[in-house]
Amino acid sequence: MTVYPLFIPTGLIIAVDGPAASGKTTVGLRFAKLIRAICLDTGIMYRAVALAALNSKIDPLDEPAVVEVAERINIQVKPASVKDGRSYDVLIDGADVTWEIRSDGVNRSVSEVSVYKGVRRAMTLRQQDIARAGNIVMLGRDIGTVVLPDADLKFYLNASAEVRAQRRYEEEKKRGVILDLSEVIASIKHRDVLDSSRKHAPLKPAEDAITINTDTLSIEQVVDRMIVEVNTVLRKHSFTCD
Ligand code: C5P
Repeated sequence: MTVYPLFIPTGLIIAVDGPAASGKTTVGLRFAKLIRAICLDTGIMYRAVALAALNSKIDPLDEPAVVEVAERINIQVKPASVKDGRSYDVLIDGADVTWEIRSDGVNRSVSEVSVYKGVRRAMTLRQQDIARAGNIVMLGRDIGTVVLPDADLKFYLNASAEVRAQRRYEEEKKRGVILDLSEVIASIKHRDVLDSSRKHAPLKPAEDAITINTDTLSIEQVVDRMIVEVNTVLRKHSFTCD
């Protein structure tokens, strides 16, 4: 069954949070397309900071230097210009880094640089600026709690580390990359611990978030569930039709 929005709303602001590989990006992109909203995956921004720091030979533990990178770099997300499995192009200071931000090195250091208050402040301000116009589905860890606490709708997608690791494994396999599944599980669990135990903007569901456990759900089922919730909001409030 496919569920469609009652009408195409304008101005909706939707937060989607959840741990690594919980399906936020795949689900978020499809969901945003259905309600004709922009989808911004904020993980890209933290990955861009981690990559830019690595490329400048900055130690991820050097907080002032990492914060300086976060405040300085220009991050752009554009429609995909190459058919190589990407959903969009990611550019740092004009250079295409779409795949580099997914490298092992970035996976290892991204949660370390994301703990810094200055890094979070720089990214949060940019994200709030982008959301100001509305019509946005924003994906991350702290969107419902910190970045957009007044969002019209908040989702928290969750799944067990094993299921999330299996999904990541299959995704990479499609691109011809064979990973060690036990290493993927360990890396996901490690990032979960760092993301949920940090002092500033830890990963957690907002009090008013709708939690969806995706362990046994397909992408379509998750999107359908989200559209049902959007329709409930549309029935309650008056949003302008397109
Ligand atoms: O979503 P993704 O796995 O690409 O995010 C990479 C990392 O970026 C996360 O593990 C987390 O450390 C950080 N992140 C964050 N806040 C967000 C989005 C991502 O701290 N809103």
